[in-house]
Amino acid sequence: MEITKTNKGGKKLLYEGCAYVVDKRKEERILWRCEKRGYCGGRITTSNDTVLSFASHSHQPDSLRCDALKIQNKIKDMASGTEDIPSNIIQNTTANISLDVCGALPKKKSIARTIRRQRSVNEDEDLTTTTRGEAFLLHVSGDSKHLLNV
Ligand SMILES: [Zn+2]
Repeated sequence: MEITKTNKGGKKLLYEGCAYVVDKRKEERILWRCEKRGYCGGRITTSNDTVLSFASHSHQPDSLRCDALKIQNKIKDMASGTEDIPSNIIQNTTANISLDVCGALPKKKSIARTIRRQRSVNEDEDLTTTTRGEAFLLHVSGDSKHLLNV
């Protein structure tokens, strides 16, 4: 079992080749739903990293995709935590992976785009904090930008 992040920064659980997003929380228990919602009823309940219950999936597990998700997550962490150029990040994170996992990753060009996007998000976050450290929400509508106090 491994916890990684969704694109929006939420939690994503990788377990036996399937990826789950948080459905509900109940005290220390977390109810997870298969990320392929709509056509898969796969669910899992965990408590302190122990699986309590499991509902099966309508599709085959895909451990290659899970491994690829872990790599992509590592790449995003390096994108926001380091100043490395995209090709270095890609090289560092993919140096020891199997060819199969490599095949499950997006193309290098698109990973490099993800790295740049991740960094521009970080810059936007800096911009939306004032010198006094207050959090502002940058609201963009049409051509004009408004700062809203949140
Ligand atoms: Zn599923």
